[in-house]
Amino acid sequence: KRIIETDVTEEDRRIEGGLRPQTLDDYIGQEKAKKNLKIYIEAAKQRGDVLDHVLFYGPPGLGKTTLAGIIANEMDVHMKVTSGPAIEKPGEMAAILNNLQEGDVLFVDEIHRLNRQVEEVLYPAMEDFAIDIMIGKGSSARSIRLDLPRFTLVGATTRAGLLTAPLRDRFGVIHHLEFYTEAELQKIILHSARILNVKIEPEGAMEMARRSRGTPRLANRLLKRVRDFAQVQYDGKITEEVASLALDLLEVDRYGLDQTDRLLLITVIEKFAGGPVGLDTLAAAIGEDSGTIEDVYEPYLIKNGFLNRTPRGRTASEAAYRHLRLPCPEES
Ligand code: ADP
Repeated sequence: KRIIETDVTEEDRRIEGGLRPQTLDDYIGQEKAKKNLKIYIEAAKQRGDVLDHVLFYGPPGLGKTTLAGIIANEMDVHMKVTSGPAIEKPGEMAAILNNLQEGDVLFVDEIHRLNRQVEEVLYPAMEDFAIDIMIGKGSSARSIRLDLPRFTLVGATTRAGLLTAPLRDRFGVIHHLEFYTEAELQKIILHSARILNVKIEPEGAMEMARRSRGTPRLANRLLKRVRDFAQVQYDGKITEEVASLALDLLEVDRYGLDQTDRLLLITVIEKFAGGPVGLDTLAAAIGEDSGTIEDVYEPYLIKNGFLNRTPRGRTASEAAYRHLRLPCPEES
């Protein structure tokens, strides 16, 4: 089973509940988003107002759901959770909105996957805290406006560009979540280890941080796997050596790349002479969905300088050749 699974797995769910930070002060990293949110939350509270609608975008596992929960917690309100694909009909969205309490946070994950009619219910809801309901049929049809409790919509998506312009424009606050630094991930791993009662040395946590693809969800996942390894093969303590051996076994390399990342780079290099190759062609060649490549694999490979995105397609960088120990075109 791959470590870089896109979807939240059952295993994630079991452990994540207890690991999620509850306040902005406990939330590690994303300093810019945190600083701004702190101000907005404070200002809204002082005015006795609801917080503006917030959109978070960025690759999976970077803490969007966690931040939504923290917003609700800091505003002292409830959070209702749903997702784009879960709501099929406009009436379902209307019912969810109508059942909110004053001030509540409505978290909509994968908000770019709402269908058009459902999305249109959100426009007046976000703007005027109201929904328009059609009554009657044909020439006698008329619409009546129903007031809603005031609420904060927190939307999450992988790329802001996936949202339609009218929806995106209705968010007052838009934040891009960044990959975490190694030092931040080390802190997160040490914190999770404390909660899960895992013995770990700071160097062990750092070794795992280096290989977590800048992503807290992966860091927590690796922690669980490495813990099992440490327990069965060693005395239970995660040292740098134990972490390193366990991660080699999991085929997560020292840059956090897994088999699919490497396959992607090798394919660009060997099948397409280093590129440029179009996203869809590349996706077909490695048997992955092009959206998954664009949202999950590519951002990290680009950030680390292994892959470049050019107008004519993706190209492998010199660093990719070096990392995979393949001869660079100039040298071959
Ligand atoms: P997303 O919604 O972006 O996919 P989540 O909010 O579900 O990501 O985060 C995945 C897991 O990573 C959470 O359960 C939490 O344990 C951990 N996590 C995310 N961000 C942080 C953070 N800043 N500090 C500590 N743990 C975090």
